[in-house]
Amino acid sequence: MDQQPPEGAPGRYWHRLDDGRIQCDVCPRLCKLHEGQRGLCFVRARAGDRIVLTTYGRSSGFCIDPIEKKPLNHFLPGTPVLSFGTAGCNLTCKFCQNWDISKARALDRVQDLASPAAIAEAAVRSGCRSVAFTYNDPVIFLEYAVDVAQACRERGIKTVAVSAGYICAEPRAELFRHMDAANIDLKGFTDGFYKNLCTGKLTPVLDTLEYLKHDTDVWFEITTLLIPGENDSPAEIEAESRWVMDHLGPDVPLHFTAFHPDWKMLDTPPTPPATLRMAREIARGIGLRYVYTGNIHDPAGQGTYCHACDTLLVGRDWYDLTGWTLTADGRCRECGTRCAGVFEQAHGHWGRRRQAIKVRPVEAA
Ligand code: SF4
Repeated sequence: MDQQPPEGAPGRYWHRLDDGRIQCDVCPRLCKLHEGQRGLCFVRARAGDRIVLTTYGRSSGFCIDPIEKKPLNHFLPGTPVLSFGTAGCNLTCKFCQNWDISKARALDRVQDLASPAAIAEAAVRSGCRSVAFTYNDPVIFLEYAVDVAQACRERGIKTVAVSAGYICAEPRAELFRHMDAANIDLKGFTDGFYKNLCTGKLTPVLDTLEYLKHDTDVWFEITTLLIPGENDSPAEIEAESRWVMDHLGPDVPLHFTAFHPDWKMLDTPPTPPATLRMAREIARGIGLRYVYTGNIHDPAGQGTYCHACDTLLVGRDWYDLTGWTLTADGRCRECGTRCAGVFEQAHGHWGRRRQAIKVRPVEAA
């Protein structure tokens, strides 16, 4: 825990301890803070008799991405999503693929000032259908994410949380009440993986997945980054897939994505495409209907197929849509079977572009 004079917006979910410290109750780390200390996430800090969020209203930059990049394959396919993050993270993954943001310690990483109304306005102005809290985890900037989500809903813009799902029950209910969709990182399927590589625990993430499935209407998909020698054994992939099947059902999409050497795991090789294809086959063999490979060029592994007649419903080449055989209400045009997800009469045409944009203050917009 770091000692720096914190300032910021009032944070929620904390309580005083008998020994004078204040405990943050947002995530299972339950950081206990003396005056002036920051939690492990770095962005929540004690200021006097309360917890503050030091990154409220501050972003590390805004980009328009394809929604497939979050990744979400069953939520308004082909549409653009206004994406942003702040700084910090509540996990310490040695394989982090966004470490410049998540490990940011200086707030010079989050210089873009943006009010919730300005973000919603930017999404409307740029033709985005949704805003995504991504690049780092919205769990740690919950108050800002919730305010942005409310501003977006008022303007007809949907919201997407890209999260590791490492959050306590009460803040979890608040965060996801304001979200339309989510992609949850299920980083591995053993306690050892979470402990050794992320200094976290598996169970709270599984609790979040069950909560989303059984207690909300949030559309969600799952991503597992397969890391050679760490979480890519057939036995672990089978155990994860069986858990998803048994606890969430066959319709939750599962993305197996490729690791690239990064952060503290520069000596680990990239994931071979064959490993991703093997994982996809295992999960499909167990009965999951929508299983994808990611971060590699694999049109066969990135298409959406009808689970009843195997027709290619949505073809993809990277983030470009190359085929569409869904009806206006999301059914297979060949056999009429419904495809799980959030679909509209037509898909979007954003393609694979990535475009940086500036969010202007509302008064100047
Ligand atoms: S959100 Fe941050 S301060 Fe709060 S418990 Fe988690 S790591 Fe600690």
